[in-house]
Amino acid sequence: MMFSVFKKIKIFNNSDTKSSVKNNFVQNNIKCTNSDVIVSYKIDKNDQLRLHRLFKPDPDSKFDPKLWEEERTNRNKHQQYYNFFAELIPREYRKGIQYVRIFDRGDSSELARMGPKNWNNLKIFELEMAFNLFDIKFCYFREILDYPRIVFTMLHEFGHYLTMNQDQRYCVRGGPFYKDESIIKQINLLYYAHDESYGLLDPERNQEDIAEGYETNYQRIQELLSKRKGELLQNGVFVRRYSTKSVEEDAADTFAYFVLLDERPEPGISLLGDKVLLFCQYPKMAKIRKAIRDNLKKLGVGPNMPQDELEALRIKLQTPNAN
Ligand SMILES: [Zn+2]
Repeated sequence: MMFSVFKKIKIFNNSDTKSSVKNNFVQNNIKCTNSDVIVSYKIDKNDQLRLHRLFKPDPDSKFDPKLWEEERTNRNKHQQYYNFFAELIPREYRKGIQYVRIFDRGDSSELARMGPKNWNNLKIFELEMAFNLFDIKFCYFREILDYPRIVFTMLHEFGHYLTMNQDQRYCVRGGPFYKDESIIKQINLLYYAHDESYGLLDPERNQEDIAEGYETNYQRIQELLSKRKGELLQNGVFVRRYSTKSVEEDAADTFAYFVLLDERPEPGISLLGDKVLLFCQYPKMAKIRKAIRDNLKKLGVGPNMPQDELEALRIKLQTPNAN
């Protein structure tokens, strides 16, 4: 999951007046919001969460103000959630991720999200997690390559950061735009290169699109992905159905798969394998893969990990490791 480009957070003035001075201080720092974010933190240099903003739901929203009130005080739990991410991903590769936000997933299926703090600055990113992330049953279910879903999710979110930050994109008016050497652009080119074997695109339009540039390709690929999901999944093009949502989701899923997959795929067998090989070609990505796999090993996280072991690990992660 990644932030929507169109998401705008509207902040309302807080008009509450409370009798006690202490309450006044706290209340005045709680902003009313029409987003689903309950609390945001700035991550300090020791990976500790420092309170940044507190929110209460817009009275017209579906969110429960009582629940948010309680959740706003659960910093230690939020720190524990973040520790899980911080222990998996070595710090040197996630320096741009500087904020954590805790959100109310309501009845949506969202577990976590990643995106730039502001869309005109691709340097600073925010990791968002559902307030009840580790209480959600299916987070413990085996998912891709038999790893628990929560592990795959954390890697997926980090995959968004790696494929969407300033190394991969540049900001100009009307942007951001992907650089030519970016993973997302390379994945798009792979779709075209595989056109013959998978019949992904109309061959006549193919050359035209390449000549016209990326933005047209991008739109056409989005359309294609949504139209032919089932068939493309069967042909071994994607990690899972969710990957077909957009090229960005495909890239994040493929990154997580690339990390967890033990064997290097043979080229030309499947488009998914070739997308994994694309990540293998970047020395930095190969380094990141190895560092995360070392951490997984150190933490005892592996395929078919039982739920109680995973829960025990989460509780154990009180303080992040300075790796
Ligand atoms: Zn995503």
